[in-house]
Amino acid sequence: MASDRLRGRKAIVTGAGSGIGAATAARLRADGALVFTADMQGDVDFVADLTTPDANARLIEQAVAALGGLDTLVPCAGISAFHPLEGHDDAYFQRVLDVNVVSVFRLIRDAVPHLKAAGKGRVVTIGSTTSSHGDEGLCAYAASKHAVLGLTKSVAAELGPLGVTVNCVQPGAIATPMTAPAFTQMPEFKTFWENKAPLRRLGQPEDIADVIAFLCSDDARFMSGHGVWIDGGAMVRH
Ligand code: NAP
Repeated sequence: MASDRLRGRKAIVTGAGSGIGAATAARLRADGALVFTADMQGDVDFVADLTTPDANARLIEQAVAALGGLDTLVPCAGISAFHPLEGHDDAYFQRVLDVNVVSVFRLIRDAVPHLKAAGKGRVVTIGSTTSSHGDEGLCAYAASKHAVLGLTKSVAAELGPLGVTVNCVQPGAIATPMTAPAFTQMPEFKTFWENKAPLRRLGQPEDIADVIAFLCSDDARFMSGHGVWIDGGAMVRH
């Protein structure tokens, strides 16, 4: 339910042209935040490939100018990856790390002066259940999402004294454009995830966005450095 609990917050959401990022931008706005959106394409404020070395610094500069400051980061941009270890291409592995981790690291690093100035900064990264587990074909993706959780914990330790909280949401299987091709081509994969979750359904982007909004709010003021599974309970059986 919409509220005004984020009134006064000034947020960047990346990956905001699609899926979880789009739902997050909408939810933060519904709760009163000013939001500056970024993605590779689409109806967003800043369009760029965020792996370009200076893209995150330019994004922050434009967001600060548009919003009048910056105190909240939600880097949702990411790519999925599925490939067996044998024959796994170096460049593909590196691309997954660049999008899912290096770009997130740069966004947080380059925003530190603004988070410091704001005093009550919030960072919510997007991990995955594969931040804690691996599986066949997921060496690049799971490595990247484990790294996101490690980055989150370390940055939480470092920025806590500045009043900044840093947490990681760990979604299970969510119905977004990222997962749609796999669920369409392999209906049994979709059924597997629906049945694995005690709540017996796939997640929706809003299921994740609502928790992100909570983590950005004052209600989560004493919570930092955590990975939060949002998976319909699927991982209780792992
Ligand atoms: P999505 O619908 O594909 O949204 C991701 C967005 O990020 C897309 O608009 C994509 O643009 C953009 N993006 C990708 N690479 C980028 C780059 N280099 N620069 C700028 N933008 C880029 O996927 P989603 O499911 O919402 O995923 C959002 C996040 O949740 C990701 O980090 C993902 O790993 C994570 N996650 C998703 C699930 C799930 O089941 N869906 C589960 C766990 C974690 P293009 O479409 O042009 O590539």
